[in-house]
Amino acid sequence: MTPGGVRPAEEPPEPCLVVRCGAPSVRRLTLAEARKAFPDLPERGRRAPLCREHYRAWKKSTRAARKLDRLAR
Ligand SMILES: [Zn+2]
Repeated sequence: MTPGGVRPAEEPPEPCLVVRCGAPSVRRLTLAEARKAFPDLPERGRRAPLCREHYRAWKKSTRAARKLDRLAR
């Protein structure tokens, strides 16, 4: 047993799934959703945890994609 304030009951945040990132995740998307912005995400289950930076990038990217789609018509 280790003394001190570490609480084993709480799971640590999953690392961001984006290749070479690995920062603690703040959001979990489905892999399909996340791949709209990051097509090269590794297949690791159906969930894709993203860190704050990449979640922002994802939001921006999906929004831009939607806008482009609209402009294309
Ligand atoms: Zn990340």
